[in-house]
Amino acid sequence: MNNHPETSVTVIGLGLMGRSLAGAFLAAGHPTAVWNRTASKADQLVAAGAWRAPTVGDAVKASPLTILCLTDYPAMHELLDADDIELDGTTLINLTSGDSAQAREAARWAERRGARYLDGAIMAIPSTIGTAEAVILHSGPRPDFEAHRPTLDALGTVTHLGADHGLASLYDVAGLAMMWSVLNAWLQGTAMLRTAGVDATTYAPFAQQIATGVAQWLPGYAEQIDSGSFPAEVSALETDARAMAHLIEESEAVGVNAELPRLIKAMADRAIAAGHGGEQYPVLIEEFGKPRGD
Ligand code: NAP
Repeated sequence: MNNHPETSVTVIGLGLMGRSLAGAFLAAGHPTAVWNRTASKADQLVAAGAWRAPTVGDAVKASPLTILCLTDYPAMHELLDADDIELDGTTLINLTSGDSAQAREAARWAERRGARYLDGAIMAIPSTIGTAEAVILHSGPRPDFEAHRPTLDALGTVTHLGADHGLASLYDVAGLAMMWSVLNAWLQGTAMLRTAGVDATTYAPFAQQIATGVAQWLPGYAEQIDSGSFPAEVSALETDARAMAHLIEESEAVGVNAELPRLIKAMADRAIAAGHGGEQYPVLIEEFGKPRGD
């Protein structure tokens, strides 16, 4: 997968994910330096050929590129804030999960220390790292990403989203919003059907078909959002709102939780009250774009 097996890389943070990252670099032939607060977590990697740096500073110095994979951003600052750790001229890629403000602040901090900085988000579980299935998002200056792309390719499907350091975190949570919304919708339907003796396994293929079908609508609906024009080509929001009322009534009638459908209908009702009842569903972006639900 990579064309520069000789390029060395450092991985700091050898938890479940960090160990997989370091393992993938080693497997791709990169000389790999590692450091972890609990040193024993490096043992297997060292047995596989990694170099155990005695200190964090030695770890950073060992390679032009350092990957950070820690619990959170405060842990990164706790580790690297000390002035005696030389960051000048190095590149840090922080794959620790956090929010966009933390990412942007970390970029400014790294710049003050003379380091190049990319933020990142791992959309994968440890066992998939090193395969195309592992999607790893990066944001920050593109030249810094491109300079290390041959090394990063060892981790999976790596993508650069843009110069704004906050983008990787934002895409990360946007993906989670999508994942939980699909799962919650499926659970709502499953809870209702179970009251009629239909088990989850029976309903799952039907739900999958619906989810796949709805996913096809996204590019067209995205065009409506980007153009700010929501002609009702398929159905009007007020028609959808009547169906939402049925979903609430049916949920209540069969004795399952109706909180989620009520929330969805409340948003639609506000959009209708604002005069958008004759427009198409994605007009709800205006409700989603507000900080508060009122
Ligand atoms: P983990 O197994 O709990 O590992 C956490 C790592 O952070 C350990 O190396 C730990 O060191 C280190 N650490 C925490 N606080 C520290 C501090 N103050 N100083 C020095 N080191 C510190 O977590 P993980 O699953 O590897 O996840 C790491 C990051 O990847 C997280 O941000 C997580 O959200 C993200 N991620 C994980 C997954 C996943 O499936 N695991 C998927 C996507 C993203 P010790 O070993 O000494 O405790």
